[in-house]
Amino acid sequence: MADRYVYFFGAGQTEGSKDMKELLGGKGAGLAEMARIGVPVPPGFTITTEVCRLYLRAGKYPDGLREQVQSALERLETATGKTFGGGASPLLVSVRSGAAFSMPGMMDTILNLGLTDTTAAALAAESGDERFAFDSYRRFVQMYADVVLGVHADLFERLLEAKKHGRGVREDTHLPASDLRDLVGEFKTLVREKTGKDFPEEPQDQLWGAIHAVFNSWETPRAKAYRRINNISDNLGTAVSVCSMVFGNMGDDSGTGVAFTRDPSTGERRLYGEFLVNAQGEDVVAGIRDPLHIDGMAQALPGAYEQFLEAAKLLEDHYRDAQDLEFTVEKGRLYLLQTRNAKRTGRAAVRIAVEMVDEGRITPEEAVLRVEPEQLDQLLHPMVDPDAKVHVLTTALPASPGAASGVVVFNPDEAAERGPHEPVVLVRRETSPEDFHGMVAAQGILTGRGGMTSHAAVVARGMGKCCVAGAGELVMDEGRRRFTVGDVTVHEGDWITLDGSTGRVILGRVPTVEPEPTDDFRRLMEWADAVRTLRVRTNADTPNDSAVARRFGAEGIGLCRTEHMFFEGDRIDAVREMILADGGGARAIAVAKLLPMQRADFEGIFRAMDGLPVTIRLLDPPLHEFLPHGPAEIKDLARKLKQNPDKLRARVEAHHESNPMLGHRGCRLGISYPDITWMQAQAIFEAAVNVQKEGVRVCPEIMVPLVGTAEELRRQREIIDHVAEEVFYQCDTTVDYLVGTMIELPRAALTADRIAAHAQFFSFGTNDLTQTTFGLSRDDAGRFLPSYVEGGVLPDDPFQTLDLDGVGQLVEMATRLGRGVKADLKVGVCGEHGGDPRSVEFFHRAGLNYVSCSPYRVPVARLAAAHAALKDPSRTPAAAPEPAAPSLEEVEAVAAD
Ligand code: PEP
Ligand code: MG
Repeated sequence: MADRYVYFFGAGQTEGSKDMKELLGGKGAGLAEMARIGVPVPPGFTITTEVCRLYLRAGKYPDGLREQVQSALERLETATGKTFGGGASPLLVSVRSGAAFSMPGMMDTILNLGLTDTTAAALAAESGDERFAFDSYRRFVQMYADVVLGVHADLFERLLEAKKHGRGVREDTHLPASDLRDLVGEFKTLVREKTGKDFPEEPQDQLWGAIHAVFNSWETPRAKAYRRINNISDNLGTAVSVCSMVFGNMGDDSGTGVAFTRDPSTGERRLYGEFLVNAQGEDVVAGIRDPLHIDGMAQALPGAYEQFLEAAKLLEDHYRDAQDLEFTVEKGRLYLLQTRNAKRTGRAAVRIAVEMVDEGRITPEEAVLRVEPEQLDQLLHPMVDPDAKVHVLTTALPASPGAASGVVVFNPDEAAERGPHEPVVLVRRETSPEDFHGMVAAQGILTGRGGMTSHAAVVARGMGKCCVAGAGELVMDEGRRRFTVGDVTVHEGDWITLDGSTGRVILGRVPTVEPEPTDDFRRLMEWADAVRTLRVRTNADTPNDSAVARRFGAEGIGLCRTEHMFFEGDRIDAVREMILADGGGARAIAVAKLLPMQRADFEGIFRAMDGLPVTIRLLDPPLHEFLPHGPAEIKDLARKLKQNPDKLRARVEAHHESNPMLGHRGCRLGISYPDITWMQAQAIFEAAVNVQKEGVRVCPEIMVPLVGTAEELRRQREIIDHVAEEVFYQCDTTVDYLVGTMIELPRAALTADRIAAHAQFFSFGTNDLTQTTFGLSRDDAGRFLPSYVEGGVLPDDPFQTLDLDGVGQLVEMATRLGRGVKADLKVGVCGEHGGDPRSVEFFHRAGLNYVSCSPYRVPVARLAAAHAALKDPSRTPAAAPEPAAPSLEEVEAVAAD
């Protein structure tokens, strides 16, 4: 016997269930389940997703399909007492696509299929309502022609409008039957003109044409794009559900609607939706007539409303989740056409999950899994008002979430100047550490170049500031202080709005809505924390960032980038003096100037973190990033340092590197200039001693960046341990500390066992590890990476979501090698991937102890870590746990200080 390709539902003969989503699609499984639990649905059948896969692969239907569809049609005829394609009581059907995941871009519904001149006449006679019959018929011809034959719906709408205009009526319900009959004729003539063929008059041809169209719609560019963005496999295929028609356009005791069992935007427990009297499904969506709020149905159709309330409750109880329902009322009788878990905002997701626990419907663990980590972002940042009308100039990388409106400025100094008085958006080709002051002062940052781990993106995320990066369509003309996108030119001082959550650059000032963390949010996060095993730290460089991150639940600092401290105020002069010093003696003097400043920074951070571990990374970026650019800056510095400008220029030029990312940076600086390591270690230990004396527990962890060989780490550690010994001796006390390294070069991963001999912890710098594993520049990748992802060459931007096959393998291997030498080696990650939910799940599986991410990603990472633990409870980190996380009260006390 042939395989089974068709499943019947309704009329007491249901063959599928909700657990067969992959085979029957979301709609097919929902219809089957509703029929099974006694919710009224019109009977029908579903052709499986397997048929779609076979059809798309082989270009033909599998043997036996036609017979199975025919037999299901006959069962449907018996169940409804109607005949498909003829008889006194014609059977009409709807045909709908339905993949396992709801997917915009797939074929729309076709209603009233089976209508021909003959069956329309029979329908008119049977219902005694000619108007209804021809209203259904003209709708069918339009929908079928649009969806299956490719004749645009607008052309039909124009003919309909012309008819209404001729009659002097506004609503199509006021057109008499004769006009509707004429319209059917006009529609068919249009089809013949546009396609060169007659509209199919055989219901069997109509049905197979629709089935074809559904399967082919799986391959439309829109559907493909949606799958790519949402990580849905191309191999799933779609099902086709064929359902006997019920009619919402049978008069004033009929209608159609859509409704959510809870408010999808706030999560409030109330029905939320719309209803139209005497209408068919597409009227609600098309906005042709103003629908009633669903509550209005209570007056319009009280009996059906009661039935609806009952069905909605039954379905929510059954699925134990908020449902999104489609329904039709035919002559006072309710039918459900679709149920699915309702899509919802982050705020609604949290509220619904928590309230469902309170209602005793789900467990706290289930509630945790009900909220997607990414959804939390919406709760933590201001958002572009979803109701605002916007003029989108371009869409680029959503580098740092939130929304910001401000006047455009092109220069960081100008941003710093204007920022305190008016909101500014800093627009740059790309940013560099020198722009920091302007970035601090700006509401948002827009760059024309750069990817998700470009300087602008990383710094903005760290500050919780909105950033859109890599807007390649922007043609910058900084000289004339303007940029152009297409035919729009934006001048300095014009308003723009950035949506860092979607990457939209919007012309003008758009209202934003502020989030407010709720009690529900707190409770959900407590449940998440109770189940996760992965610790969550933060990347923070200032006491303020540290305090913000603690408020979001960070359990330590996983990365303090000390170089960011070098740009504050006039420190940069001392840094430049250090770099450009003529010899060892001059350098030592310059370095000594920096010592008290660094010490004060570390003291602030140790106090803010109050007993939690603080990982401080030694200087990392290539030195020339700190140097003056251009003759004016060099002249200015020469004056301050009392040096000859020409000599100084020569020294600056001597630091130029062709490929600085792979050049004199990371621990290579500390090896060449041990004074710098010395000074930083001294600042850290003296700060630790001072703060410990105040009665605060300190846990410094000193991290050596960009190590490629064990010997580099050995030498750097020697200095650090030596300085520690000296400081502790001088101060007559000790502080517990660790020395570890970043693993951010493939060589480090490959030789992790040798490196582990000198390391007390590893932290994967997955930004650089991705860059060096792919041989792909972090700063230039934005130019072509989006097209790689769009074209499917890469599944994701590897700077955003860890490349498991390549970089992930190195992470696993280095962890294994490291722990082979030191079983309890603490291993974490501090690249941007530490805040990416899918990457966090991988780090959990790989047995890491912690992830570290920017402050505003901390709740996202906590929830992702909880998801990971619930999905894979067998994994627990191999190394000893870190100090317990602070209680909520403790965190709030710190935040209030
Ligand atoms: C990294 O490379 O992943 C990292 C955290 O360091 P940075 O981004 O500062 O190079
Ligand atoms: Mg790095």
